[in-house]
Amino acid sequence: MSNTPNRTFESRPTICPFCGVGCSIEYAGNESATGVDGPVNTRGEICPKGAAAFDVVAHDERLTEPLVRHNGSFVTAPWEEALDRVTEGLCKVIDQHGPDAVQFFASSNCTNEENYVYQKLARILGTNNVDNCARLCHSSTVAAMSERLGAGAMTNTLDDLSETDCLFVTGANPAEQHPVAFRSYLLPAIRDGATLIHVDPRENDTTEAADIHVPLRPGTDIEVLNAVAKTIVEEGLVDEAFLEERVSGVEAFEAHLEDVDVEANASRAGVAPETLREAARAFAEADSAALITGMGMSQHRCGTDNVHALLNLALLTGNVGRPGTGVNPLRGQNNVQGASDVGTLPGILPGYESVTDPDARARLADEWGVEPPGEPGLTEVAATHRFGDEVRAAVVFGENPAVTEPNATQVASAFEELDFCVVIDLFETETAAHADVVLPGSSWAEKSGTVTNTDRRVMRMRPNADLPGNARRDLDILAELGQRLTDVPAAFEYDGPRPVFDELTRVAPIYAGMSYDGIGEGYQRWPFPEGADAGTDVLHAETFATGERTAPLSAIDAVPPADTLEEGELTLTTGRVIQQFNSGAFTRRSERLMAMRGEDVLQIHPTDATARGIEDGDTVRVANERGEVTVTADVTTDVREGVVFCTFHYAEPLINTLTGDALDPVAEIPEYKHSAVAVERVGD
Ligand code: SF4
Repeated sequence: MSNTPNRTFESRPTICPFCGVGCSIEYAGNESATGVDGPVNTRGEICPKGAAAFDVVAHDERLTEPLVRHNGSFVTAPWEEALDRVTEGLCKVIDQHGPDAVQFFASSNCTNEENYVYQKLARILGTNNVDNCARLCHSSTVAAMSERLGAGAMTNTLDDLSETDCLFVTGANPAEQHPVAFRSYLLPAIRDGATLIHVDPRENDTTEAADIHVPLRPGTDIEVLNAVAKTIVEEGLVDEAFLEERVSGVEAFEAHLEDVDVEANASRAGVAPETLREAARAFAEADSAALITGMGMSQHRCGTDNVHALLNLALLTGNVGRPGTGVNPLRGQNNVQGASDVGTLPGILPGYESVTDPDARARLADEWGVEPPGEPGLTEVAATHRFGDEVRAAVVFGENPAVTEPNATQVASAFEELDFCVVIDLFETETAAHADVVLPGSSWAEKSGTVTNTDRRVMRMRPNADLPGNARRDLDILAELGQRLTDVPAAFEYDGPRPVFDELTRVAPIYAGMSYDGIGEGYQRWPFPEGADAGTDVLHAETFATGERTAPLSAIDAVPPADTLEEGELTLTTGRVIQQFNSGAFTRRSERLMAMRGEDVLQIHPTDATARGIEDGDTVRVANERGEVTVTADVTTDVREGVVFCTFHYAEPLINTLTGDALDPVAEIPEYKHSAVAVERVGD
């Protein structure tokens, strides 16, 4: 399955296209990648996904010509004709319904420069309806951390986490989802004596290294975190000096904790109260303790509140602003941090300035010649709820929302309600099936530019392959659309990504002072104070990024999940496995990774299986009012009773058929991690 015969490959250090760890890799011949010594993987470490990263580059299903729909079917077309169709389709919608009738889906898997130009295109056209898939993974984390601390990113670095005394990992499985970060940074700390507390409904590869496992019921994070906070206060384990100097709202918070009953919270979470107390003591008594958080926390309709409750633990114990401490979201895609940094968010301009800030808009107007609109746009899930209504067109750049959005069957049919849809991608994806035009873009290995990893390091990508057929570089496609669609074509004349990055450093304060040459083969980390060598490692050391000396504690009450369980139903929760990634648009096309895939399984506890007459290996139907899938049962005690688990990587079975689209009221992140389902053996 390769289209390499006429391709040219060249080995140059670049960044892995998968997770946010940001390992350096390069072409190693025979359609394989090898790890090379880089800023993050300093000994050239690589995981199975990184090693297989060229499979997608060389795949024979790559689009090599634009596709346009004629009489219901795609036909190949010259670029000029395809771009004319895009210009005509979008202009017609904008003329009839205004710019807010277009939704722009940005890509966390594309470079900072591409995402910057993309949001610039949307905003110069007159809409803030631009969002990236950070909406679906950590928008709630970013919302809570930005509000309380002033920055929605890892407070610390992978390097200094390797020196911590305690790791409190909640809603994350870094052993499988961020393998090089786990093996090279977290595991050494654990082997050095750091305590690992793992809060997760399942036992997985991370749990194997844990000292304390808190197997909570999905949707009870606040109960667990409040009980831990209560124990810390009750047992006098708070850092009094830190509270005095750096924390506000202490009295109100402690008053709120008076109503928290550790036993009752533990009972609701389905864990032993002593386990929560043990976790609280291990965390609070460590000299330095770090919180690591993932999508098990963020992907709830109370995701923002979950992270607020987590932040309380760091503030109570003085675990902020020092090496080996902090609140550390591990980011999913290789540039999910950067895509948000550069402003592909509906309420946020480049550098996390609000679209409602007139000074920030004026600065952009000076650079662009056009001021962006001042009202926040639509988030991507909310936009799909309005397809065919006020949203009439979509531009989908390197994302696959027909698979990745919750309630996916509904989303797929909503795409059919659009007047016009253009997709820029490598393959005829499930979303492209609903498009009017598909433009063949460039893979990770065919581009240069920068990406920003999970610990705020901006690093450079370098091409390792030429383009297949008539595919074009993404940046060239976006610049061409800017020149065709806007009244300021000169604002989209770029000679490659370097001048785009220079522009970004002028308009995004957190990138100010960085340069391509300064990054070189290393990195620059934001924020990047004047005269810095590599940037700021530990945030919030003297003052918080809000500019304040203190950050507040926040009283958080538990919020029940949107789906309530009817008699006999189980809670479905979802997650990733090491050999696959997100919607699988890349990894499903890797023979190597698919060979490692094994069978798709639904993990189900023996007690739940027995009650339904299900045996290991049976085919089971998993259903709710949103849809149904069939999958093989894996009867295992790795998942707690009352909960079933499945990965979300595949179009078949499409697990997001079952997930709900109730949204967090602040971040509008969907509740992927708690869906009520009925499970039965097929044939009954
Ligand atoms: Fe790529 Fe992440 Fe694996 Fe590193 S750990 S090789 S960045 S998938």
